[in-house]
Amino acid sequence: INNFKYKIALPAPSLYGQYDYSRRRILAGLLKLGFDMIYEVAKGAELVTYATNMLLDKPGHTYPLISSACPAVVKLIQVRFPDLIDRIVKIESPMEVSAAMAVQQAMEKTGLPEKDIGVFFISPCAAKVTNVKAPYEKTTSRVDGVIAISDIYKNLLEACKQADESEYDKELAGFQGIIWADTGGESSGIQKHKTLAVDGIHHVIDIFEKIENEELHGVEFIEALACTGGCLGGPLTVENPYVAKTILRNKADNQQPKKTRMEIPEEELNKYVWTKDIQYKPILKLDDDFGVAMEMLEKLEEITESLPGLDCGACGAPGCRALAEDIVRGTSIKADCIVELRDKVKKLEQEIKQLKGKKKCE
Ligand code: SF4
Repeated sequence: INNFKYKIALPAPSLYGQYDYSRRRILAGLLKLGFDMIYEVAKGAELVTYATNMLLDKPGHTYPLISSACPAVVKLIQVRFPDLIDRIVKIESPMEVSAAMAVQQAMEKTGLPEKDIGVFFISPCAAKVTNVKAPYEKTTSRVDGVIAISDIYKNLLEACKQADESEYDKELAGFQGIIWADTGGESSGIQKHKTLAVDGIHHVIDIFEKIENEELHGVEFIEALACTGGCLGGPLTVENPYVAKTILRNKADNQQPKKTRMEIPEEELNKYVWTKDIQYKPILKLDDDFGVAMEMLEKLEEITESLPGLDCGACGAPGCRALAEDIVRGTSIKADCIVELRDKVKKLEQEIKQLKGKKKCE
């Protein structure tokens, strides 16, 4: 992070549900932590909502279209529901849209070249880490790093205690962007079209099976989120998702107006359409070389066995086997599994306690 002359924080909307402080105070707290600029991802979410409405209004779609905002869901479609690939809304995520807008503003403000500006997403999930390393929308992500909400939580709490609302005087994102953190938030901004919001990887799978079997009727847009409770239930959040939801909804209710405010010309929107497309990624196509593929397959089986087998989707992969494949391909690590991570932390805690105990005895 210190390699950059100018550092931008991109707080995910779910960050606002973690603290019972006003949004201005949380953003002022981030400035206190050393960021030079804050760009709310909720602003990018407003823009994506507007773009999605425009896309849905165009004729010729096979409904329902499916949101691409959750990387774990996009991955799920890639590996398990290839027939649904064409239904994915190919508009960049709020994170990428926000990063592009933030960099542009920072360059204009500081006169610095793009390479000196670092962009850091404050994330509720590991799926965004994988997404930044290997984006599906374009060749490279404009985000330079991902910081887990759980990692920044304590320091930000202390910074919020000392911060004053007046220290963040920029215009705040609107209602529509903030509620993207909660299930149903994205789809509540869709006008004139029938929507369905689903969360939890198993429910998402169930809905996708219904689409494949032509059992789902009258729905034109699906907001699908891998985590139960949406991003407020992301594995890298700290607050109980139900408490976070209440905090977030209170903040959103205080934010007027309650509609998508951003209006932009169509040419402008085209900048945020994917420049890359995703392919069906059958889980067993590991390498073109048969020998290498067999070795990788063996390793994959071994890792799958060692994972908890919950298929919770919290790591950003749609199931344990898919995570094992990502590990074998080198795009994920075992600690991305939230159960593994928890066990490691517990073990570390015990080791520290034992060490402390030994020192006392000495
Ligand atoms: S639902 Fe979960 S996996 Fe999907 S973007 Fe939100 S926090 Fe990440």
